[in-house]
Amino acid sequence: MARSVWHHLYQTAAWKRLREHQLAVQPLCEFCLITEDVTAAEVVDHRRAHKGDLELFHDPNNLQSLCKHHHDSAKQLMEHGKKVAVIGVDGYPIEMG
Ligand SMILES: [Zn+2]
Repeated sequence: MARSVWHHLYQTAAWKRLREHQLAVQPLCEFCLITEDVTAAEVVDHRRAHKGDLELFHDPNNLQSLCKHHHDSAKQLMEHGKKVAVIGVDGYPIEMG
C-alpha cells in the first residue's frame, strides 16, 4: 500500500546506488543473523518508515538488508505497530525493529 505511493522513489538512480551499496556492505539478512541464520538478503528495507521523507529515504543509516521472508512477515507487523521478537541464540527474546 505505502509502497505503491512512493513507488517512483525506488526508480531513481540515487536509490539504486544506495540499494547496491547496502547489499555490498551487508549481503545477509540482518533479522536472520540475530538467530545466527545465514540467508542472502534480497530486500533493502528502511528501518524507520520514510513515508515519503526524502532525507529518511536516502539516509544510508536508515537502511537494513532483509530476506524476502522477513521483509514480508516481521517487517509488515512492525509497520502496523506490532512488536516482533525472536528467541536469540542465548535463549532470551530479542525485540526487532
Ligand atoms: Zn531473514
